Amino acid sequence: MAVLISDTCINCAACIDECPVEAIVDEDDNPTGEEIYYVYADKCVECVEHHDVPACAEACPTEGCIVWDDVVDGMPAMESRGDKGEPVIED
Ligand code: SF4
Ligand code: SF4
Repeated sequence: MAVLISDTCINCAACIDECPVEAIVDEDDNPTGEEIYYVYADKCVECVEHHDVPACAEACPTEGCIVWDDVVDGMPAMESRGDKGEPVIED
């Protein structure tokens, strides 16, 4: 997948404008129907060649909300990425 927004998301909108590839949608456009923000895995480039760390996770005020998911075949992946389920930004 890329990165995943988990259900601790508080819909604060801090992440959405930080994404360089517009991979994030808000709760109204979440295709799963969950009332939280959502990352399209087929768009997320893990911020490779844009930022040193994923910009969404850096902007997110909710500790551990944005976690790593599986790498998507054919999509960029950060060399320093953690395992699936680990927070992208460790506090
Ligand atoms: S990791 Fe980067 S490319 Fe992926 S959703 Fe977050 S800001 Fe967008
Ligand atoms: S910044 Fe974090 S808490 Fe705010 S909408 Fe994005 S994922 Fe949810």
